[in-house]
Amino acid sequence: MNKFKEELIRGSLKIEVFLNEAMLELFYKHYQIMIKENSKYNLTSITEEIEAAEKHFIDSLMLYKEIEKYNYVYMVDIGSGAGFPGLPLKVYRTEKINLVLVDAVNKKVNFIKKVIAELNLENTKAIHARAEEMAVDYREKFDVAVTRAVGEIRLLAEYCLPLIKQGGIFIAAKGPNVKAELKKADKAIKILGGKIQTVREEKLPISGEGRTIVTIEKIRKTPPQYPRRPGIPKKDPL
Ligand code: SAM
Repeated sequence: MNKFKEELIRGSLKIEVFLNEAMLELFYKHYQIMIKENSKYNLTSITEEIEAAEKHFIDSLMLYKEIEKYNYVYMVDIGSGAGFPGLPLKVYRTEKINLVLVDAVNKKVNFIKKVIAELNLENTKAIHARAEEMAVDYREKFDVAVTRAVGEIRLLAEYCLPLIKQGGIFIAAKGPNVKAELKKADKAIKILGGKIQTVREEKLPISGEGRTIVTIEKIRKTPPQYPRRPGIPKKDPL
């Protein structure tokens, strides 16, 4: 077995995610396509097998606890880049998740489409759009939104909360020390109809790097004026 798969097994057991050989093979395929196409698509600086296994795949799978309780989820990954965290979650629980991956950069969307085709994933779609434009066709359509490394929480709240049904959740994968960021996001979350549900502090199982998984529940409809036009949420956050 190669180092990538060994690392995935080791790390996944520590976060109580149980991978079979078919899943390991799909994760490895995704990794290999990413490395092969990295220079063309400008996808990641994390390329070494062990580091990529932990910082892309295990890191994405850490969000699984938040969706474990659902039997079925219609899920959107906003600013998915090379497919994280959406694709590893889909591979892990393919029957449970119907996935839409969104990125503003067409090259990245083309890369994601390539991975979807090569991994033969069903109920998985990649869309080239800005998060702010998604609400035109997908307003309050999803059960869950996930996002990693796209921006601060008050910005992500404006991108994600309009897309979620009432009772649904938005899960942000963040680094350590999010207290100040959360405080700054209080107003935006309230305006957009959300409520912080849980803030789970974790450590990556191999490197020990800190992670925080923030879950925001949608408790009210998002007022129709949100999200604002593309670019405004980032320039003038709520
Ligand atoms: N989520 C991936 C990960 O964790 O590896 C990619 C993170 S990358 C640092 C941020 C991604 O968000 C980029 O691919 C960028 O194009 C995308 N992005 C930034 N703002 C966006 C927006 N408003 N709508 C859609 N995608 C956006």
